[in-house]
Amino acid sequence: MKQSILFPKTLKEAPKDAQSINHKLLVRAGFIDQLMTGSWTLLPMGIRVLNKINNIIREEMNSIGAQEVLMPLMHPKNIWNETGRWDSAKEVMYQFKDSRDKEFTLSFTHEEILLDLIRKNLKTYRDLPIALYHFSTKFRNELRAKSGILRGREFLMKDLYSVHSSQKDFWDFYEKVKIAYSKIFEKIGLTFKITEAAGGVFTKNITHEFQVISPAGEDTIYYCPKCDWGQNNEIFEGKKGEVCPKCKKGKILEAKSIEVGNIFPFGTWYSERMKVYFTDKDGGKKPVYFGSYGFGTTRLIGTWVEVSHDKKGIIWNREISPFDVHLIGIDKKGENIYKKLKEEGIDVLFDDRDVSAGEKFKDADLIGIPVRLVVSTKTKDLIEYKERTSEEIEVLPFDKILKKLNR
Ligand SMILES: [Zn+2]
Repeated sequence: MKQSILFPKTLKEAPKDAQSINHKLLVRAGFIDQLMTGSWTLLPMGIRVLNKINNIIREEMNSIGAQEVLMPLMHPKNIWNETGRWDSAKEVMYQFKDSRDKEFTLSFTHEEILLDLIRKNLKTYRDLPIALYHFSTKFRNELRAKSGILRGREFLMKDLYSVHSSQKDFWDFYEKVKIAYSKIFEKIGLTFKITEAAGGVFTKNITHEFQVISPAGEDTIYYCPKCDWGQNNEIFEGKKGEVCPKCKKGKILEAKSIEVGNIFPFGTWYSERMKVYFTDKDGGKKPVYFGSYGFGTTRLIGTWVEVSHDKKGIIWNREISPFDVHLIGIDKKGENIYKKLKEEGIDVLFDDRDVSAGEKFKDADLIGIPVRLVVSTKTKDLIEYKERTSEEIEVLPFDKILKKLNR
């Protein structure tokens, strides 16, 4: 991609109403644009990051036997009445009437919609388990949508749902999802904590959250540095500094954090209300065991920027960077290297613009692609190589550059 045609151009100043780091940097660098509070356009570079995140998630979902679908965003009132959530979750839903006075809501989640799909297609225990997921938009009536893309009124999520014939099968799968989520965070390169939490408008059961520690977070969590014990402040009843109840070794720490994922065990609460039954081996009709598993994908982009930036801008890693390398052409050089890199299958942003070298370097730091290459009359047949996280510059021939990139 040539930077001369990349939409939009970077901004020198952050928008005046921007309070959070992710809002300021993602807007300045040209990843997102705000339509209104809590409502964002993902720009070309934002989509590139999102697609990389989604692909990592998709791989892990498929590996635990889940299948991808895409469910509607506009739902009829009657389905939400089956569980009583049309009323109990009213505060977070965008409910409305059409011109025939029929009532609908925009999706804030998909449990009821998924179970409607399942009950139409489920007969016996042989059909189970079923695990389906999708990447789609959620609408939530947020009163405090002010943290950039960390909290939106409209945002993107991956949500997975699973139904099972026995409690044991359900809990085995729930643990598999925990491991899959942990792998996603590890692949993306984010440090996380799993904490026990309350279920809000979803369930009265204990749920599990995947939290990333950051001062920008709106959650407070308590965790043990010596083992995997953790709780969020909704259910934590002890004091920080106390001995961990699980390993009896570590002392409980407190931290601000961002909730990126949340997984919910529902038992048969939903399936009994929605009559999602199957015929079991003994011939009896039984309700399915049900769980749902959310992962905030646009929120993850914001979270990454909150924990990975410096004074100059964003710092991506190669797993989710919008491009593999940022090639800077000076003195109208670089076209040739750009072509050669593309031929090698490397995803390049080529700064071919007619602006000063200083401006190009500033933009490269702001956008934050992990590797910067520079070609100029000074470098002759060689190329300058610099990583975003280092001040060291190496001057190398093309084949050596290629080796470093494929490392
Ligand atoms: Zn512990």
